[in-house]
Amino acid sequence: MTAEDTGRTVPGSEAEALALDAADPGQRELFDVPPADGGDYPEVAYFAGNSLGLRPKATRTELLADLDAWATLGVEGHLEAERPWLPYHELLTAPAARLVGALPSETVVMNSLTVNLHLLMVSFYRPTAERYRIVIEDSAFPSDSYAVRSQARFHGLDPDDAIVRLRPRDGEDCLRTEDVVDKLGPDVALVLLGGVNYLTGELMDIPAITAAGHAAGAVVGWDLAHAAGNVPLRLHDWDVDFAAWCSYKYLNSGPGALAGAYVHERHHGGDLPRFEGWWSTEPATRFEMAPESRPPRSADAWQVSNPPIFAMSPVRTSLELFDRIGIDVLRERSQRLTAYLEGLLAGITPTRPLNVITPSEPARRGAQLSIRVGGGLRAGELCKTLHFEYGVIADAREPDVVRLAPVPLYSLHHDCWRAARALAAAVPETD
Ligand SMILES: *Cc1c(COP(=O)(O)O)cnc(C)c1O
Repeated sequence: MTAEDTGRTVPGSEAEALALDAADPGQRELFDVPPADGGDYPEVAYFAGNSLGLRPKATRTELLADLDAWATLGVEGHLEAERPWLPYHELLTAPAARLVGALPSETVVMNSLTVNLHLLMVSFYRPTAERYRIVIEDSAFPSDSYAVRSQARFHGLDPDDAIVRLRPRDGEDCLRTEDVVDKLGPDVALVLLGGVNYLTGELMDIPAITAAGHAAGAVVGWDLAHAAGNVPLRLHDWDVDFAAWCSYKYLNSGPGALAGAYVHERHHGGDLPRFEGWWSTEPATRFEMAPESRPPRSADAWQVSNPPIFAMSPVRTSLELFDRIGIDVLRERSQRLTAYLEGLLAGITPTRPLNVITPSEPARRGAQLSIRVGGGLRAGELCKTLHFEYGVIADAREPDVVRLAPVPLYSLHHDCWRAARALAAAVPETD
């Protein structure tokens, strides 16, 4: 018997999913969706946009145009290209600022995420004998964990002493704001948390934790890898000191795409240490070839090198798309899609070794739902089955978490229905 036959194990109806999509189609037609190599449908049901977003169709055309400027102009492209290379990064600044709720002067697209975290910690992690600890989540993404531990070591500190890892309460999967706040004592120099936790999908209370960190005398930075392009952000109004995010997850800018960085304007033009290069100086002074820089009063002062134009091109295309549609509109569709998937999962998880660990309150999560699998199942094996037998692309965090992220730009209710149906069929009911 297939899942289809057993009635009660098939969540929702396909007709209902298709009707919901007809009324609420999103912008799927703007994206290339990979073909399926398994299952009953020509395209995959793609739920890994929190890991690598799909390619907007416009990316190819725009990138080829930028690439051809090199062919036809050579070095003159710095000034003569349709989008001149020298100030190219400035095209990304305003839309990136709107996306994260910052002033344009507070925002810059550069480097990759972990590199930006390091460059920002050069300025914002300045330990003293009394105040030297960095607070992160115990379930921080490993790159963040390695980054802060290596920063502690760089300052001659013992990372096991300097790094405070926040754990959920026994029997819970997510952090409570009050428990985070309780840890913020006079020894904390820096709070550096994920805005949306990559594993659980929990959206942290960024304004409350930022305020509590400041009240404790700490600097507060946020890793927005899973938040940028997923949830609305108001970094300036929330008084966040600094932040960084990558652009290849919800921002669909391609593997290893350039990252973003934000520095609150109160930190501009001061005497914070920064690591500099020729892109740290005022553009007007760049070719004076002077021995000392004259950094601008903006986040651009944190730039080091001249940026890769062909890597910025896809970020430009993506940010233009977010700008045109608006993150608040996307968030509304995102909440509808995620609630729909949650409802379908609620029909199959009680009788199976599957447990959604993402907060059920819509305000405490973004698009992603994380499912803990039990009963001896391994997340990686389950994801392979979903992929090769059902054409559903989910993502496994070993040993036991499967993450599903319906992305409001291109995911469909029908994709959610396919995912729930595949899970119902792939995971036997417990007797
Ligand atoms: C994806 C992700 C990274 C990746 O770091 P890169 O420097 O872009 O390779 C880092 N931190 C978090 C929290 C992430 O989700």
